[in-house]
Amino acid sequence: MTKFEALGLNSALLNAVTDLGFETPSEVQEKSIPLLLEDEIDLVALAQTGTGKTAAFGFPLIQKIDSQSRTTQGLILSPTRELCLQITKEIQLYSKYVKGLNTVAIYGGASITDQARQIKRGAQIVVATPGRMKDMIGRGIIDISKLDYCILDEADEMLNMGFYEDIKDILSNTPKDKSTWLFSATMPREVATIAKKFMHNPKEITVGTKNSGVDTVQHEYYVVGGRDRYSALKRLSDSNPGIFSVVFCRTKRDTQRVAEKLIEDGYNAGALHGDLSQNQRDLVMNSFRKKQIQMLVATDVAARGIDVDDIT
Ligand code: AMP
Repeated sequence: MTKFEALGLNSALLNAVTDLGFETPSEVQEKSIPLLLEDEIDLVALAQTGTGKTAAFGFPLIQKIDSQSRTTQGLILSPTRELCLQITKEIQLYSKYVKGLNTVAIYGGASITDQARQIKRGAQIVVATPGRMKDMIGRGIIDISKLDYCILDEADEMLNMGFYEDIKDILSNTPKDKSTWLFSATMPREVATIAKKFMHNPKEITVGTKNSGVDTVQHEYYVVGGRDRYSALKRLSDSNPGIFSVVFCRTKRDTQRVAEKLIEDGYNAGALHGDLSQNQRDLVMNSFRKKQIQMLVATDVAARGIDVDDIT
């Protein structure tokens, strides 16, 4: 029996796992999958991004959903369009051997008509950003009154972005007896409040140490005066010619400014922040994934949860 089989996954999922080349379940998968498969429970899971969270909720969700019914049974809320698309892609990969299962992404900045059409064709799983989701419920385009599972991914970030009211509204359109699974990297008071208000006796799991970084990342820091920050950044890049990096800035303006300066100075840089059009954001992300952009200058919010390999 493989380690994934031992978690209780069915053959459709096990075949997808084999195709994906996953060999060992990650800690969050090991802890959450058996719990979620065994029973109808509410769950609060504290886990960093990049720990395999999507499969931790995606596998049980896919296995529990009735793919023969066209009803929307699972809703995954995530903070940004990028993350929403990434989760959708992962869920589609995981469910490739499940006949009839349809996963649709709903997010702002793109045609609502196209998204409505996809929903109309029948989507058992919907992955959405809160703003667009609320909008579509309001317009009667989407019905989540028969939802069985609601997943709040990156809950802390969604609340940071001010989505509390939207989330509250969305949840009020779902049945009381559904299961809610909340995943968050950190546990600020606001997240605890959501858990308390909208969940019933949630089971709790923590992966790694609370509020800590992953140990596959080596941390270094340099103390420089404000005026020397940009030169220090350039020097870091110059001393690592093959650098493939994300530069975080606090504000959108800083992001834009630093990226523009880097480009002027001949570096392969690009900015990613919430004021760019969706089209521009896609272009930047695609160039970054293809390594045409070596330095992605981003706000924390825009870059949260983005999965790119081989960052220097
Ligand atoms: P996530 O934290 O869900 O964004 O996942 C991060 C990356 O790890 C994604 O590219 C997943 O496809 C991959 N991944 C998830 N689970 C496993 C696993 N058990 N073994 C290897 N890779 C995995």
